[in-house]
Amino acid sequence: MQYFPMFFDISDKPCLVVGGGDVAARKVALLLRAAARVTVVSPDLGESLTARYANLEISHLSREFDEGDLDNCTLVIAATDDEAVNRRISELCKARNLPVNVVDQPALCSFIVPSMIDRSPVQVAVSTGGAAPVLARLLRARLETMIPAAYGRLAELMDEFRDLVKARITDPEQRRHFWENVAQGSIAEMVFAGKEAAARAAMHKVLDEAAVSDRPRGEVYLVGAGPGDPDLLTFRALRLLQQADVIVYDRLVSEEILDMARRDADLVYVGKTRDQHTLPQEDINLLLARIAKKGKRVLRLKGGDPFIFGRGGEEIETLMQEGVNFQIVPGITAAAGAASYAGIPLTHRDHAQSVVFVTGHLKDGSMNLNWKALAQPHQTIVVYMGLLGVKELCGKLVEHGLPADTPMALVQKATTRQQKVVIGTLGSMPSIIETTEIKPPTLIIVGDVVSLHKKLSWFGGAKGMGDT
Ligand code: SAH
Repeated sequence: MQYFPMFFDISDKPCLVVGGGDVAARKVALLLRAAARVTVVSPDLGESLTARYANLEISHLSREFDEGDLDNCTLVIAATDDEAVNRRISELCKARNLPVNVVDQPALCSFIVPSMIDRSPVQVAVSTGGAAPVLARLLRARLETMIPAAYGRLAELMDEFRDLVKARITDPEQRRHFWENVAQGSIAEMVFAGKEAAARAAMHKVLDEAAVSDRPRGEVYLVGAGPGDPDLLTFRALRLLQQADVIVYDRLVSEEILDMARRDADLVYVGKTRDQHTLPQEDINLLLARIAKKGKRVLRLKGGDPFIFGRGGEEIETLMQEGVNFQIVPGITAAAGAASYAGIPLTHRDHAQSVVFVTGHLKDGSMNLNWKALAQPHQTIVVYMGLLGVKELCGKLVEHGLPADTPMALVQKATTRQQKVVIGTLGSMPSIIETTEIKPPTLIIVGDVVSLHKKLSWFGGAKGMGDT
């Protein structure tokens, strides 16, 4: 081990930073986060440090470094662009056994500053001993995605209950199990989802019941998987995918996303094709509750966002009735994904001040929509599940007052490599689709904003730009 890792308490301790530029400013920011008393020595201060000085966050000695500046210091950082000065500071500090860091010059340092992930009080530090700082930063970015933002709050909650748990559960082995269950189970998830009061109540409950069983309590995660590109998953969706015992999914969820699930998770397909309902919605609702009640963590994975034409509301209603704990993770809805990846902004100062999402699902062969409200100028209309009704949609919108030359786009399999964009108008689209192969899932966008596609299109599917 080249360096000995440690966490250093510098709260309210005098720390010296030599240099006033951007590099110095970054180090000052870190020292201030650890509540140090920072003095900066430099003839000039850059913009950021000038602001901190004006805010009384730091002291400033407006001159060159002087050996006396080291008196009473706890830690020194040299961040000047003068190599001789940096070297002199390093030597003086080493002679005094004063911890010193010279930015980007490991040979002159007695300590180095790692890449860090701050979920105070939880902190993770990564170092390559100065060999490849870029690797440390990449590794840090990976860890960032794995450690929930609220990890610090979980640590605080655990700290709060430490004495109580120690008093109630005297056997150390049993206590360790208890904490492991808390950190990986429903209580932790409550904290991550911002339900701290519920987490506290649940802690008291398990302690009161002394129900210190190894079996985790079942729960359901209703998760939006986004429109298809796995990179568009949220951090939380990815984390839950990697810890769920059972994953209940349907047709819209791509294989690449399922591949990210825990290897030994059970996958349950409840997909629907248009006419052939594999499992009625009520059965899915009950299925989720039933599996969770067996003590499993069930992840219900939905295309896009669970609350936009996703029947997420119905599923959680059943869970509520059945007393099953759950949380909902939003996803990028198809409209947002298709719009971005097709280069069609849904709103635009010159073209559209409002956007409406509607379902084009046919009931008894026709669309039951408020056509008058839809056929408005300066409005973008996004139609989900509308592919079969394109003709009716175009006809009705024109009938209710939209010009027949209003631009319109069909976006097939948005955000995936099979994305295909078909551009036309309300007048031309009905005949275009007769000769163009286009498959579900496809999203329809109607409005002047569609004309921007020509200029803003940037994403190419499998076959070049995929435009027709
Ligand atoms: N909850 C989902 C929508 C489910 S309804 C969401 O928020 O996106 C299903 C409809 O969504 C499909 O018929 C199609 O119109 C649209 N859709 C979903 N994913 C899509 C994709 N990748 N590309 C185009 N349309 C998509």
